[in-house]
Amino acid sequence: MTDWSNHFSQHARRAIPSAIRSLSEFPRATDSIPFGPGEPDASLFPVALMREALDAILTDETSARSALQYGPSEGDPMLRRLVAEHMNKRGVACAPDNILLTNGAQQALNLASEVFVDPDDTVLVQVPTYPGALQVFLAHGARLADVTKADAATRPALIYAMANFQNPTGISLSVEQRRELVTLAHRLDTVLVEDDPYEVLRFDGDALPSLLALDTETRSIEEAHTLYLGTFSKSVAPGLRVGWAAGPRVLIEKMGLLKQTEDLQPNSLAQAGLVRLLEHGLEPFAARVQAAYRIRRDIMAEALRQHFGNRGAWRVPQGGFFFWLTLPEHIDTAKLLEHAAKLGVTYVPGAAFTPDRSGANTLRLSFSAAAPERIAEGVRRLARAFDEYDQN
Ligand code: PMP
Repeated sequence: MTDWSNHFSQHARRAIPSAIRSLSEFPRATDSIPFGPGEPDASLFPVALMREALDAILTDETSARSALQYGPSEGDPMLRRLVAEHMNKRGVACAPDNILLTNGAQQALNLASEVFVDPDDTVLVQVPTYPGALQVFLAHGARLADVTKADAATRPALIYAMANFQNPTGISLSVEQRRELVTLAHRLDTVLVEDDPYEVLRFDGDALPSLLALDTETRSIEEAHTLYLGTFSKSVAPGLRVGWAAGPRVLIEKMGLLKQTEDLQPNSLAQAGLVRLLEHGLEPFAARVQAAYRIRRDIMAEALRQHFGNRGAWRVPQGGFFFWLTLPEHIDTAKLLEHAAKLGVTYVPGAAFTPDRSGANTLRLSFSAAAPERIAEGVRRLARAFDEYDQN
């Protein structure tokens, strides 16, 4: 086999595997309960509605041809309009020109980094944060720093934050904390990338304004420093790979230009399917997933209270997919995972979410992928694994 490693580009050398995706190789019991993957429950996908939508599109000769043809790089004009209306409803005055449709929010994140991040630039992140974002920033050669320790002397190339039901902590920022981030981005003269995949999954409490909504309260979107990332992955289905960026036109155009070199355009058929599926808005889909995941959140909250007692600390999230557990200092959750996997439950150790692999006594539990009737049993197994590990 040829050894190509000496020929790899700097960029390719910096690429590292996702700490979460590599967990799938872990040995585990056959009836294992998955609290690891942050993926939606596939049984909630609107399969019948999507079949009808695609059937209608492919039955009509004109729409079939257009759904299978190349399309604009910025995305289907009708879907851009739909997304702009969705953003309008959430307090962001924007036009379809302010929207770039992408291959999931992940691509939008990568495009934003391509636009702003050079090797050795600083990127400010919440700690802990989404490992898929860490992968992107590290591949661009960024130095990562904690946004709460922002140092006014160095201008960061980008700030990355989640305001709603953060991955992995499940915590949402208060309106005041949101305002502080927007102010920080303007003060440091940098872009604030707001990643908001879980906003549709609010179970309790009133929706809070997005960072982009706050940024555009007193100025036009063209003057905003916030670039908002959204996705249909949690409300409809992630396999469609359709997400978006919303922000100043100059950024949308630059990202669109870079997108042309990556993949020319978003998937025409997936976009056409979404346009038809969302004829009556996103709300019915949001309501459906909210109801389903709220039940799981409630079961996990109760099971943690019952079985985990005073072994650790956590907060009950108001939405999203995740509980974040902080265990006593002497617990290493990567080692605990070996016991847990043998007992038939998995999760993601907290160090996967920090730039410096700190947080060894923390872990993320996802309630999205496990069947509701298995969640309490999973937490019971985890408590048993904890006791076994703690006694050794
Ligand atoms: N950002 C965060 C915080 C996520 O959790 C995910 C998906 N797990 C993504 C982005 C990627 O979403 P998409 O499927 O739209 O690419």
